[in-house]
Amino acid sequence: MQSSNNCNGVLHEKAIEGLKLFNEGKFFEAHEELETAWRDETGKVRDLYQGILQVAVTYLHITRGNYEGAVKVYGRSLKWLKDWPDICRGIQVKKFRDDAELVIKELEKLGKENIGRFNKSLFKQIVWNEKRKWICDRCGSEMHEKNCKVSCPNCGNRFDCSDLNIYFD
Ligand SMILES: [Zn+2]
Repeated sequence: MQSSNNCNGVLHEKAIEGLKLFNEGKFFEAHEELETAWRDETGKVRDLYQGILQVAVTYLHITRGNYEGAVKVYGRSLKWLKDWPDICRGIQVKKFRDDAELVIKELEKLGKENIGRFNKSLFKQIVWNEKRKWICDRCGSEMHEKNCKVSCPNCGNRFDCSDLNIYFD
């Protein structure tokens, strides 16, 4: 299991773009954005981006009728996706893994000959909560958030995120 620290913090902005495109069924474009996020990211979370990217490519192969390609890339994705907690950086990783597994099971049930009949409604959306990045208004440090309690590690400034709509909306 990955340290939960790898799951704190915000998603790379290109990863967010990738998730949005994935959810629109634009798997090629999703793959490109996630690849950029993967290249930019130096932390362990890059592996998660890589796994999601490979599932996007798997789905792309299915839409293009490439059975072997789909099975192969899905097999590779497992390694990148397996060790994450159920929710990481706001992404529901467990649900994502389960959805992809169901897709491959259905694909294998159909077999190569019938890939054209694959039911695309099985391509489920990725569910995630976009975490906000908090910057301290007193000292400019990045703040930590836990259960809606936001605190500054540098100067001790604190607030409750439910109070903040006044300032930010
Ligand atoms: Zn501060």
